[in-house]
Parts: sequence; structure tokens; C-alpha cells
Amino acid sequence: MKERCPVCQEKKLLSKAVGVCGRCLREDPEACAPFVERARRRSRQTFRLPEKPPQDPSGIPCNLCVHGCRIPKDGLGFCGLPPGGREKAKVSWYYDPLPTNCVADFVCPGGTGAGFPRWSFKPGPEYGYQNLAVFYEACSFDCLYCQNWHYRVDGPKRAPVGPEELANAVNPRVSCICFFGGDPTPQLPHALSAAEEALHRSPQRILRICFETNGSMNPAILERMMDVSMRSGGVIKFDLKAWTPSVHYALTGAPNSQTLQNFARVAEAFPERPEVPLLVASILLVPGYVDVEEVRPIAEFIAGLNPNIPLSLLAFYPNCLMDDLPCTSWAHMERCVSAAKEAGVKTVHVGNRHLLWPGNYEEELCG
Ligand code: SF4
Ligand code: SF4
Repeated sequence: MKERCPVCQEKKLLSKAVGVCGRCLREDPEACAPFVERARRRSRQTFRLPEKPPQDPSGIPCNLCVHGCRIPKDGLGFCGLPPGGREKAKVSWYYDPLPTNCVADFVCPGGTGAGFPRWSFKPGPEYGYQNLAVFYEACSFDCLYCQNWHYRVDGPKRAPVGPEELANAVNPRVSCICFFGGDPTPQLPHALSAAEEALHRSPQRILRICFETNGSMNPAILERMMDVSMRSGGVIKFDLKAWTPSVHYALTGAPNSQTLQNFARVAEAFPERPEVPLLVASILLVPGYVDVEEVRPIAEFIAGLNPNIPLSLLAFYPNCLMDDLPCTSWAHMERCVSAAKEAGVKTVHVGNRHLLWPGNYEEELCG
């Protein structure tokens, strides 16, 4: 946990999976670049994925996300999917009784009854109903701390399925569908077809369509997500990983430009349905990397778009390649909650609070 950063030579809370400390990533990205590239290569090799988004001039183009891959014949995109042929998806699902630990449950109809009776079956939490949680087994990012990485080594849970088969999973107790993963981005056409099919079959009933995403999708497909979530009472949940581009790239292997642009686009539509927030942001507080220096500018960005957009700050759990960090401390969380509120965000929620380390790791671990 406490290691000497090879750039600043100071002992810092840092993960060997990243190789350098958060401050150096922010202040001296050039010096950090060789360490970051080594860390990124190691991650991609661990999961046997392409090291970079393929750009084969004669490859098959995919424009579903920020990477804009050109995939060689018999090759894979950065997300690990082959080109084309995505009518059937690598996906699995389960039924999650409501209210659940969904990232937006503190403001959404399933968790609070917001928008009752139009968007919720109950005036409070929707006990007795279920969320159909749809897990897409691919991702356009490569987070070193991924909380759902097992699909990458376990392989698919079931044979690829078409949208109709997924729509068949909606039963009378399902009041919302949450498309997540991995990330839904690389298979969004499938998710949107399944959502439209499910809504078409049940035109008169409540069935909210929600997405939980890193926000890296093509803006044209974002418009379709907004349309289906808006008219069904659903929520689009953006996980904003970091503000500083070099920190974002080190942690995720991807730029954050498209995500921020897409977030701003959904924020434009936010006032159109005030009773249920169309957009909710979350930030995972990664010890040593995502602290006030990242949270404050993200919160200023959110508040500048609309201070009513809810924000959930999530406690980190050591996982995947970054299993050498502690959980987020209460002290870390409190600093970030204050910073987000000072920046002007009106609703700041503490998520995963059961994971919060009771002490202050800066003092206990770093001396
Ligand atoms: S979804 Fe993104 S990462 Fe996957 S192949 Fe398409 S452009 Fe590449
Ligand atoms: S899927 Fe949507 S409505 Fe259901 S619990 Fe999550 S955010 Fe709430």
C-alpha cells in the first residue's frame, strides 16, 4: 500500500498496478507515461485483450464508442468483441428485489417511489417488485480496479441471445430494467432493441428503462438511450471515473472527453422530467487517486450544468489488479462530500457506506 513513487521518490499510498502516485499522474503526466503504459499493457495481457484500440486501415470500422476501432479480420475490438455480428449479445441477467443497491436508488422510483403513480407502483420503495439486472459481458474501458471483472476470466454465462429472448425475461413483477456490465456501450444496439421490444409488449404498464455506464458511447446512440429512458421513467447513470485526463487514462485506459460531452448532453434534457431525475452521476473514491482534487472539478462541472443532478460518491473496495489499496476511509469520503457540496451539487449521496474504513488511512497507513 505504502510504496515509493518512482517519479517523485516519496512514499505514497499507491497501487503497484498503476505504478505511480495520484499526485504525479496529475502534475507530471509526461514523467509518468512510461509507467502508465507498462501498467496498461500488463492489464490488457492479463485478460488477453488488444493492448490498444485496433486501427487497421483495412479493418472493419466500429463507431459505437469513443475508441472508433478498425478491427482486423479475425481480430477483436478494444472491448474484446469481434466486429459486426452483434445481433446476439454476450449477456446474462438476474432478478434483483427492489429496493436494491442500484447506484440511483436514493432518488429513483424503484428506491423511493419518485414519480408515483406515473413512474412507480408504490409511493415509497417498490417492495414486492424486481429490477431485471442485465449484465453485458464486455466493456469499452479497462479499469484496473474493475468491480465486475470475473466475466473476463469465467467466460460467458450463457450462449449469446437475441433481444427478443432477453425481453422474454420481463415478468409482471419486473418494474425496471437496468442495463449494466462490464458496460452496455459495446452492445447498446442490442440493449435498445430489447428495451423497445419489452415496452412494446407492455404498453400500459410501468417498466422503467435504465442504463449504468461509463458514458463513452457514440452521441447518436446516446440520443436513443435518452429517448427510451425519458419516456419510460428510467434513469441514465454515468460513472465519472476521474477529471484529470492523465488520471482517467491511467485508471481506465480511455479518455474521458466523450463521457463528459455525453454527460452534458443528458444534462440538457434533465429539466424536462423533474419528478424523476433522468441523469445521476457517481464517482468511485479510489484511495490515493480519486480524492478532492478529482471530485471538486467533477462536482463543479455537474453543478455548472445543473445543480439538481444527483451525485453518489461510492466507497472503493480493493479488487481486480488494484487489490493492494485499502477501502475508502470515512475521512476521504467526508472531504469529498464537502467538496461536492461546496461546488454547488445539491444532492450528494454516500454509497457503499458499509465498505467505509472507519479511520483515516493517510495517518494510519502513510504515517
Ligand atoms: S464498441 Fe468501442 S471498443 Fe468495442 S469495437 Fe466498437 S469502437 Fe471498439
Ligand atoms: S434500475 Fe432504475 S428504477 Fe430500478 S432501481 Fe435502478 S435506477 Fe431505480
